[in-house]
Amino acid sequence: MILKSIISCFICLTILFAEAKPPKPTILVTGGGGYIGSHTIVELLNDSYSIVVLDNLSNCYAFNATEKPESLKRVEKLTNKNVVFNNIDIRDEKSLDKVFKTYKIGAVIHFAALKSVSESTRKPVEYYDNNVAGTNTLIQAMQNNKVKKLIYSSSATVYGNPQYLPLTENHPTGQNITNPYGRSKYFTEEILKDLSYADSQWKIILLRYFNPVGAHPSGLIGEDPTGIPNNLMPYLSQVAIGRRDHLKIFGSDYPTPDGTGVRDFIHIIDLASGHLRALKKLMDPEFRGCKAYNLGTGKGYSVLDLVKTFEKVSGRRINYQITDRRRGDLATVYADPNLAEKELKWRAERYIEQMCEDTWRWQMQNPNGYHTDEEESN
Ligand code: NAD
Ligand code: UDP
Repeated sequence: MILKSIISCFICLTILFAEAKPPKPTILVTGGGGYIGSHTIVELLNDSYSIVVLDNLSNCYAFNATEKPESLKRVEKLTNKNVVFNNIDIRDEKSLDKVFKTYKIGAVIHFAALKSVSESTRKPVEYYDNNVAGTNTLIQAMQNNKVKKLIYSSSATVYGNPQYLPLTENHPTGQNITNPYGRSKYFTEEILKDLSYADSQWKIILLRYFNPVGAHPSGLIGEDPTGIPNNLMPYLSQVAIGRRDHLKIFGSDYPTPDGTGVRDFIHIIDLASGHLRALKKLMDPEFRGCKAYNLGTGKGYSVLDLVKTFEKVSGRRINYQITDRRRGDLATVYADPNLAEKELKWRAERYIEQMCEDTWRWQMQNPNGYHTDEEESN
């Protein structure tokens, strides 16, 4: 009898150990309080990664400097999991080093950056300092602590004015970029490529995002721009909710079907799941060097397409006025997403209707974003 129990116990333990997977590594997410970071963290937590966030709160709302950003509190509510938060600037070498020494970090997803195109033309040095020098400090801290796996948030702006469409990853980069923000992304890509040539232990994925829009379908987290939005979707939804009077459409004389600019809008949840796939690739022992992938849908929609779809899903009229072109804007930009499909096994699945529906739900449930009173968020 005793022998029988011991044998069955032994069999159970063998099965248990055979099935137990090693725990997933802890991921350091810089800029995790922001729009793309917070949505990506939901996907990572749901896939059993542990998360440590660094953010200096420069573009995400927290009740005070010692508290977690509101976005991350909601991420915890959504996933029922904990996020470790550190109010740290990526340019603060000592604090970065402490983070790497405190937590056993397996890889870094680096979102932290300033991202306003127009502000970057007024404050170029600040942009290069934050985005380029900041990344340099981060990779030095990684190097010192032997963490050599990195996913970098890049942008379609690195392609400049398209020489052909759809944009493939082989399209030249760094030419005709019209603003310091775009150049900060390009320069950083070049630094990361040089790093991977110099030290073959580094594994780096550059994700070139097209136009992220939408929100988590729960309506709990979404895009919460500070002040007047620069981007189309948040501006549009603030007009729909009555927070802004009308949308200015920047130009109707582009060589596009309806004369307004055409972009590759991608749902934020698709973008977030692209990071999960990229992380899987990065952890693959076969993966080497530094590789760029487009994260886009491969389809272009015009500004007017988005306005009409938003009107349909919200049932609200969007007042708009056609104005002059915005300086530096391009006529048409859309991705060839085939490389990500082939190598990351990732493809965007959500359409423009869902992008508008989820934005509208977030906007209705949070008319002032993460702030509770209107004055603060304007
Ligand atoms: P976001 O502003 O919502 O998030 C960025 C976060 O980084 C913010 O919470 C901010 O407080 C933090 N941050 C900024 N500088 C920091 C610093 N020096 N130290 C620590 N934290 C800092 O922006 P997002 O839309 O989530 O963009 C994330 C990344 O994706 C950025 O690198 C951006 O350039 C890139 N990207 C964004 C878009 C887009 O349209 N949203 C498109 C292409 C690329
Ligand atoms: N756009 C617009 N009005 C706005 C904001 C943007 O007409 O208030 C247009 C812009 O000219 C471009 C498209 O919307 O054709 C997407 O602009 P956005 O700033 O959202 O992203 P970009 O592609 O410039 O990074």
